[in-house]
Amino acid sequence: MERREFLKKAGIGAAAVAATAISAPAVIAQKTYNWKMVTTWPPKLPVLQDGADRFAKRVEELTGGRIKIQVFAGGELVPPLGVFDAVSAGTVECGTSAAYYWAGKNPACQWFCAVPFGFNGQSMSAWIHGGNGLKLWEETYAPFNIIPRPGGSTGVQMGEWFNKKINTLDDFKGLKMRIPGLGGKVVAGAGGTVVLTAGGEIFTNLERGVIDATEWVGPLHDLRMGFYQAAKYYYYPGWHEPGSYLEILFNKKAYESLPKDLQACIDMACTDTEVWTLSQFEAQNGAALQTLITKHKVELIKFPDEVMNGLKKLSVDVVEAEAAKDPQAKKVHEDFKAFQKVVGTWGSVSEKAYYDNIVEKFPLKA
Ligand code: CA
Repeated sequence: MERREFLKKAGIGAAAVAATAISAPAVIAQKTYNWKMVTTWPPKLPVLQDGADRFAKRVEELTGGRIKIQVFAGGELVPPLGVFDAVSAGTVECGTSAAYYWAGKNPACQWFCAVPFGFNGQSMSAWIHGGNGLKLWEETYAPFNIIPRPGGSTGVQMGEWFNKKINTLDDFKGLKMRIPGLGGKVVAGAGGTVVLTAGGEIFTNLERGVIDATEWVGPLHDLRMGFYQAAKYYYYPGWHEPGSYLEILFNKKAYESLPKDLQACIDMACTDTEVWTLSQFEAQNGAALQTLITKHKVELIKFPDEVMNGLKKLSVDVVEAEAAKDPQAKKVHEDFKAFQKVVGTWGSVSEKAYYDNIVEKFPLKA
């Protein structure tokens, strides 16, 4: 017993000494970073705000606690649309939002989120990682001291919730609709009145007739907003946001102050978020759509070809006019267009042709 006790004590002692000897200098050298992250989203918003909280947790895990990020939802530290300015000024080290909110900083920003009749999520990812997308994104944000990283796609969004049926393009005339970004400019081109409404006020405005129609995200988020109680017709597809990308932004000075291994951890956590985000949307939208149809008796309608063709024509004009506003927007647009030709050629014989053949297996229950 005595011998065993001795060995046990000696063992623990030796291990403790060894651990101290090995880790002490490393502990002194390892600086820890306490960062703040701001977002555009309301607290607990599924996927988007949840994704920001998850990102912070992943960074802490990947860095063994060397970087800790405190996350603030929209309005908690800065206004929801104050994310870009806060990161740019270094008020906070990082943030997450969607690039089309920054059209006023440079029209080019919009191409890194959503272009009507532009890329879906898969093609956006191809452009960002397999084309010039990320390089152009970094270039566009560089004058603002921001390093952007892709934060994942919402997938194809839904068209809009309407109080009346849309049979022709003329039905947009006089329609009051909540729709941001380039899509809003297209609706205005079709004779609609675009009303800018903060997320929290959309439902009330729709219910009271302040607006006749709205878009939001997709079935998962639209179900939660309760739009089915205020509008009857749910149109698809979301031509205006075919694969909106989210972004994670870093203040350049803060990012560059990190040692290379921590920069790599940050980049890995972004990629992890990017994959997780699209996966959540793809995994949950189908069930939410089914609930809207069966439980809430929403009428799901595909935009007639005539309407889609009209919107497509208007979109070309809107996007070209936007690109002509600024040399960087023009540069990004030209690259985007050239890449769309390439992926489109492949997509028509791969994704589209394949899906056309299996889609009848998955009828929606009425
Ligand atoms: Ca949207």
